[in-house]
Formats: sequence, C-alpha cells, structure tokens
Amino acid sequence: MKNLSKIVIGLALLFSLPVVATTPYTGKVIALDAGHGGTETGAVNTATGVMEKDVNLAVVYALKSKLEPEAMVVLTRVGDETLDSRKSRVDQAIADCKALAGRTCDILVSVHHNGSSDQSHDGTMVLYNEKSDKPLAIALHDALISALKLPDEGYDNGGYGITVYGHLVSALTEAYYITNDWEAQQYLLGTDYVTPSGYTVRTGARVNQEAQAQLDGISKYFATKTIKGGGR
Ligand SMILES: [Zn+2]
Repeated sequence: MKNLSKIVIGLALLFSLPVVATTPYTGKVIALDAGHGGTETGAVNTATGVMEKDVNLAVVYALKSKLEPEAMVVLTRVGDETLDSRKSRVDQAIADCKALAGRTCDILVSVHHNGSSDQSHDGTMVLYNEKSDKPLAIALHDALISALKLPDEGYDNGGYGITVYGHLVSALTEAYYITNDWEAQQYLLGTDYVTPSGYTVRTGARVNQEAQAQLDGISKYFATKTIKGGGR
C-alpha cells in the first residue's frame, strides 16, 4: 500500500508539472495573403455569385485563429481592400513582420481558389516560384490532398501572383475550384463572420477543413525544417 501511494503521489506530481506547449510554428512570423479583393473578385461561381476573394479571406481568418497565439500572424488584406499591386502587398507584409517580430516573415502563404468554365470541375493545385519555396509548396499540397481528397492537379511554378516578390519563402494554394457548384454551396452553408474591419464573409465546415489542412501543412513544413537544421 505504501508503494502504491508513492506511485499515486508520483503520478500526481508528474501530471502537475507545467507543460510547455510548443508547436513547430511556435514563435514563427507568418504572412497570410487572401488573394484578390475589392474590385478584383478573382474567380466567380456563376450559379451562386460566390466570389473567390471572399472565400480566400474566410480561410485566412480561420487559419489565423488556428495559428495564434503560437505564431505571429500578419495579414496582407483585412477586409475588402482592392489590391494596389502585388509587390506593394508583399512589401507591406515584410514591413508588418519586421514591426511585429523584428525580422522578415518566415513564410508567406497566398490563399486562392481556382476557376474553370466547367461548373463540375474540381481539384487541388499549389503554385510556387523559387526552388527554396518547394518544401513549403509540397507540405501544403500534401496536407490539402490528404484532407480534401480532390483530384490532384499537382504543382505549377514560375511567376505566379504574390510569390515572386520580396524573396520570401512562399507558396500559393488553390485548394479547390470555387467555380464548382458544390464548393460554392459549402461556402454558403457557413455562418456570417464579420472581420475586424467590418467586412462579412462566411465560415463553415469547408472553410475550417481547408484552414486545418493549411495549418497541418505549415506545421509539417516547420517540423521538417527543424529536423534538417536548416536556417531561414
Ligand atoms: Zn485567385
């Protein structure tokens, strides 16, 4: 009985020790870009009028709330601002990262959803620009494929969107086609989410599923990088 009580006390002590919660992205400074905005709608679902820019923003906010407070998050677009230029958006993100963390952004993820004239077409694609972006692109691609289970449209690289500026490690995700009627319906099934800037988007199961996959991809990217012992 004495031994048993020692074990019980020992276990109690073990579980009362402070647990240092860390994730692979703890302390990282991450820029999230909701593609398009304002007069630039991105792809539009013709049956429902759902606009890519809104879905992008909804995913970015859902992802931000999953990353924080472990990671420091900078947003390139907080509401429905029209894009000045892609370069100025990246420059602003870099300045915001410096202001927040004293250094440039560890990664930039540009969230987009694809467009097609075929309303039944769906699939997942990830774009990147430089060789140094590939590990991030692969991690995001694999996480999105495993979560969404859509046709794998692989990668494309070179000169796309926001990934070309500022030499940040960056990737652009096209998790699914918002021109797909089922996808647009999933977005509409969500509930209103009013951003801090007062712009309303919708957050639902599909948005959260993608945000979780993006989080898993980001987590995997930083975890793999740490094992390899690479620098920035
Ligand atoms: Zn787009």
